[in-house]
Amino acid sequence: MTDKSDDQKLHRLAKDYRWDGVTRMPYKEEGAAPFKAISRQILHSDPSLDGELRYFEMDAGGYSTLERHEHVHGVMILRGHGKCLLGDKVVDVGPHDLVSIPAWTWHQFRASKSEPLGFLCLVNAKRDKPQLPTEDELRAMKADKDVAAFLES
Ligand code: MN
Repeated sequence: MTDKSDDQKLHRLAKDYRWDGVTRMPYKEEGAAPFKAISRQILHSDPSLDGELRYFEMDAGGYSTLERHEHVHGVMILRGHGKCLLGDKVVDVGPHDLVSIPAWTWHQFRASKSEPLGFLCLVNAKRDKPQLPTEDELRAMKADKDVAAFLES
């Protein structure tokens, strides 16, 4: 390919879940919400598209923010193993598992202690701001011993 516009349409896999021309960014602003060792790459985002496709990756032992919101997520695990809190259930996840996160469902991903966990996440381009649990909501979640063990892992 020599045409520049064609170059912009193809982002080859550079290495290890990094794509040419795609910037690897912090997950969120530091201090905005609790999270650990996670990066974000926006793979597809276009004003004419109502969704965005992102790739998130957390280091071994890393985790995403525990949150809920009106918008939904479609997630496909690409690498590694870990656990996902999905409402009041904790599930094991691994490569090519597909996770649908409905509206207003508490969710969090946690990588295993031994390897990174990376996943594709499809989301609305225009979306509401995530809510974090209150102390009372967190206490209620932790009444379930599997959820408590997950949140404290
Ligand atoms: Mn979310």
